[in-house]
Amino acid sequence: MSVSIQWQEKLRSIFFELIKEVPTCSYDELLSRLIMKLQDSLKVSVIVIYEHDDWNNTFKQITSQMLQLNEQCLLRDGNLAIHQNKIVRVQEAFNPPGTKEAFIIPITPEYKPSSFVGLSIPASCDPGADKLLLLLKNELEHFMGIVNYFRGRRDSESRNEFLFYLTTRFYSLTNKNDILIEIINSLKIRYPKFTYYLLLSQDYQVDHSLPVKTIEYSDDETKRVSTQAFISGEVQLEDRVREKNTCLYAPLKGSQGVYGVLQIVTPRVVNFPDEEIEFMRQFANAAGKAIENVTLYSYSKRLISDLKMINDATHQLNSNLKLSEITAIVKQQIIDTCRTSQVGFIYYLEEEGKFDILPGSTDYHYSKQGRQFTKHMLDELEWKKEAIFSGDFKEMLKLPFCSVMVIPMLNSGKIHGMVTIMHEEAYYFSFESFKLMQSLIQHSTLALANAILKDRLENAVITDYLTTLYSRNYLDEKIQLHMATADRGALILFDIDDFKMVNDTYGHNTGDDVIKQVAEIIKINLGNDDIPARWGGEELAIYLPDATVDDGVQLATQIRKQAETTTNPLITLSCGVSTWTNNTNDSVKELFIRADKALYEAKSVGKNCVVKENERKNSIK
Ligand code: GH3
Ligand code: MG
Ligand code: MG
Repeated sequence: MSVSIQWQEKLRSIFFELIKEVPTCSYDELLSRLIMKLQDSLKVSVIVIYEHDDWNNTFKQITSQMLQLNEQCLLRDGNLAIHQNKIVRVQEAFNPPGTKEAFIIPITPEYKPSSFVGLSIPASCDPGADKLLLLLKNELEHFMGIVNYFRGRRDSESRNEFLFYLTTRFYSLTNKNDILIEIINSLKIRYPKFTYYLLLSQDYQVDHSLPVKTIEYSDDETKRVSTQAFISGEVQLEDRVREKNTCLYAPLKGSQGVYGVLQIVTPRVVNFPDEEIEFMRQFANAAGKAIENVTLYSYSKRLISDLKMINDATHQLNSNLKLSEITAIVKQQIIDTCRTSQVGFIYYLEEEGKFDILPGSTDYHYSKQGRQFTKHMLDELEWKKEAIFSGDFKEMLKLPFCSVMVIPMLNSGKIHGMVTIMHEEAYYFSFESFKLMQSLIQHSTLALANAILKDRLENAVITDYLTTLYSRNYLDEKIQLHMATADRGALILFDIDDFKMVNDTYGHNTGDDVIKQVAEIIKINLGNDDIPARWGGEELAIYLPDATVDDGVQLATQIRKQAETTTNPLITLSCGVSTWTNNTNDSVKELFIRADKALYEAKSVGKNCVVKENERKNSIK
């Protein structure tokens, strides 16, 4: 039998034995057996096996370290052999004593990675080595192909298992933060040497235990690649020269959008193998989908509660409510949703170029600064024609608030007013709450505008134009209502003494002004529940619910005294006071007649005095 056939036989039996063990043996074990068997059977001193390392794009020795090895030369010749796919005879790489010849055999199997074997043939060996080496190369390629196939399968199985486990974990979590923690922790287990960052948008509430960085959309060189990953939704790689490392940016991508970018930083510049990139892509996709799920879930939960809130509010507003009741309902919804205490309802009187602060507005709005702020915001709104949302407003106006939302009450494209919502803290309101408030105000505007109009109309009817006291009709109604439900009340009638003379001396305008002055004196002296009215011409009245006649006399006297000393020109007042209790079967008309009679008495006893009903000639000075 020729030597080459003997070799072939030997080789086949070696590899036959080894291949049987591939599914059960570890890679290292297989290699050491291979080396041992080749040494034994072929009497070659197998020196060394180098395998391609995809991460570093270089060949790395995977068998036990050999002394007397010139690695640089070996690598150079190994690369050459691989490149040409030819067995290379080597000179300097290794030459242990007794070595006849040394070779490098490139091994490029169907299933990568490729490798090369350096071996030396002892001096005693048959010189016709070329053919034998070629045989060895073929057998090795065949063998390594099978081994690598199994290794590849094992790796991909382990990656899939890992992904499967993670996906199950992700889907059991209901909170975005927990998912982010899981992302980082699981990666640290799988690739402990890498560093990780989560690039997320600004609205994420940072958990400081997580390596979170704010994603910045920028064409700046340092952010271009991460921005690209975020925008394109594709994995991006970047070798950073200055930092001497490689970054992989994997977008956390769901079906509807990208929720952030996972940044993986290697300790030095590496070449990410394709399978690893694919793995990272799948990993980030699984994470992205899980984030999307919890985001959508919490979004839909929030949406439902928002809709419920608006529905509740509009439902309440549908009924025929007063302005103050409407503002109270809307204010409560605003406070509940935005967790703030500063709310203002401003009605804009376009024709007069003025604004009204409506009931329900918090005290700040009535202060001098509050009015300035309101005026400024109205101007701004008129100019911008859209709602205002700011988290750092203080800077501009030196206000006690940083966060400001101003939402117009729009009806048929016209601004009827606005709702102001403020808070001391900067960036306090979320954009979602701003959107929600816009929706709430939009739904409430019609009810608000109607109530404002009704309110103004009612006021116009019940208010006297000259004095802004109530009208006589209104006073009548109020007394009637009060009589039906209460136990007592008092009525004062005032008449300006010798008013004709005032008119004659100073003219009607001054006469009007004197009536206004008396009305102002009345307003200053009123008790909380007292109702002042213009009874007619220069006659004014006050109804004091639940008061006695003496309460009425006391108030009338107080006002009479102020009038005689503070009016300009000086005038005096005559006053008649009447009262009712539920013991008497009384009417509004009777009450007025009695007060009028008392007033007449006051005139007849010399004017500038107060007279109680039924007390003839008993005037009170
Ligand atoms: P007396 O002390 O008896 O009350 O004398 P008097 O001059 O006030 O008399 P009387 O109350 O009868 O006259 C009311 C006058 O007030 C009549 C009217 O010209 C005048 N007057 C009524 N309404 C107005 C008003 O709105 N403006 C002005 N300037 N004068 C009015
Ligand atoms: Mg009169
Ligand atoms: Mg008079």
